[in-house]
Amino acid sequence: TGQDKEMAVFSVPSYACQRRTTLDNQNTTLTDALSLLAENAELSDEDGRGVAFRRAAAVLKALPKPVTDMAQLRGLPCLGEHSLRVIRDILENGMSSEVESTKQSERYKALKVLTGIFGVGAKTADRWIREGIHTLHQLRDSGHTLNRAQQAGVFLHYDDLNRPVSKADADIIGETVGKAVDAVLPGAQVTLIGGFRRGKLTGHDVDFLITHPEEGREEGLMPKVVSWLESRGFLLYQKTTRNSYLECKDGPARPPSNIDRFERCLSIFKLANEETGGTTQLETLTENGTEPAGHRPWRAVRVDLVVSPVSQFAFALLGWTGSKLFERELRRWAGYEKAMSLSSHALYDNKQSRYLRATSEEEIFAHLGLEYIPPSERNA
Ligand code: ATP
Ligand code: MN
Ligand code: MN
Repeated sequence: TGQDKEMAVFSVPSYACQRRTTLDNQNTTLTDALSLLAENAELSDEDGRGVAFRRAAAVLKALPKPVTDMAQLRGLPCLGEHSLRVIRDILENGMSSEVESTKQSERYKALKVLTGIFGVGAKTADRWIREGIHTLHQLRDSGHTLNRAQQAGVFLHYDDLNRPVSKADADIIGETVGKAVDAVLPGAQVTLIGGFRRGKLTGHDVDFLITHPEEGREEGLMPKVVSWLESRGFLLYQKTTRNSYLECKDGPARPPSNIDRFERCLSIFKLANEETGGTTQLETLTENGTEPAGHRPWRAVRVDLVVSPVSQFAFALLGWTGSKLFERELRRWAGYEKAMSLSSHALYDNKQSRYLRATSEEEIFAHLGLEYIPPSERNA
């Protein structure tokens, strides 16, 4: 038919950081399926497979139209045999048996429940599952000693922390953080980062980057901000990690991993509901028996605060805006294509043996020989 002849043939560059990926995803069925397999692989300590599925999903997210035929995918990068099989299953049968059976598996369900606890990663969840712990009830009855974060995560705020945070909530928290920062160091600046900077309407947490236009003034800022918030009852939990960048002995801009070394605070905010209380939906009693949100005038929200010296601000901004895959691809591009090392602190040119300075994200893209991609198009 004529329709077949006009079937779109797609072409996309191979690194996600060379592509414009908006939130307007035309292939959600396919990308949800591949993302679930990626998540399952990551939770099972198979990071290589996880990245392969993430890259495949990211290619589909960048396509301007829904995929309807396997022939349209010819020549596209990052689509391995396994991902192609999943895509074919869905196009031909409306679903992938592998995805469906993963979703139904006891192990996947248990991993989701347990890693839904703040402070519990794949390793801990896996250990518990091998002990036969699959639910929060079983965890509670197991007599395991939980650390402070996990106690907050499982007994106090499980349901809140697994409910999406809205942009409106993020903005309210932003105002509070702004007040705190302004009170302890006038002139310091707060920037919304993470998914909300990319234009997402909901998130699993809210991320902020704090700096001061005068280098060095930001030192010691985090404990002051945290005390200000704590003394006014805004924090349900916080764990502050101090800056360790200068102590890093791993050589120039080549941190051993992508974990950065800024002064950081992982926290749980106590967010008051709107005056009317009307924003809180009536909820069924929570399955794990924690206090239902409908019965109290606040909710718990995960908030990440990061402090950066202004000389590293552009790198921190780029590194903390995400998406995670976009960041990974930027570093891969830098290393493989440009012989450079990119981190959230700096960019090092291995050929010239020197750091490349930047005061804006645009400059960093230019150093890397990439077209500038704005935050709203980094949703790979
Ligand atoms: P969500 O809506 O789920 O929160 P998000 O994109 O904001 O989505 P986050 O997990 O909050 O996801 O991460 C935001 C950004 O911060 C990502 O780009 C990630 O690479 C970066 N990031 C998170 N943790 C670290 C870390 N420990 N070190 C360096 N960068 C990190
Ligand atoms: Mn986030
Ligand atoms: Mn975060």
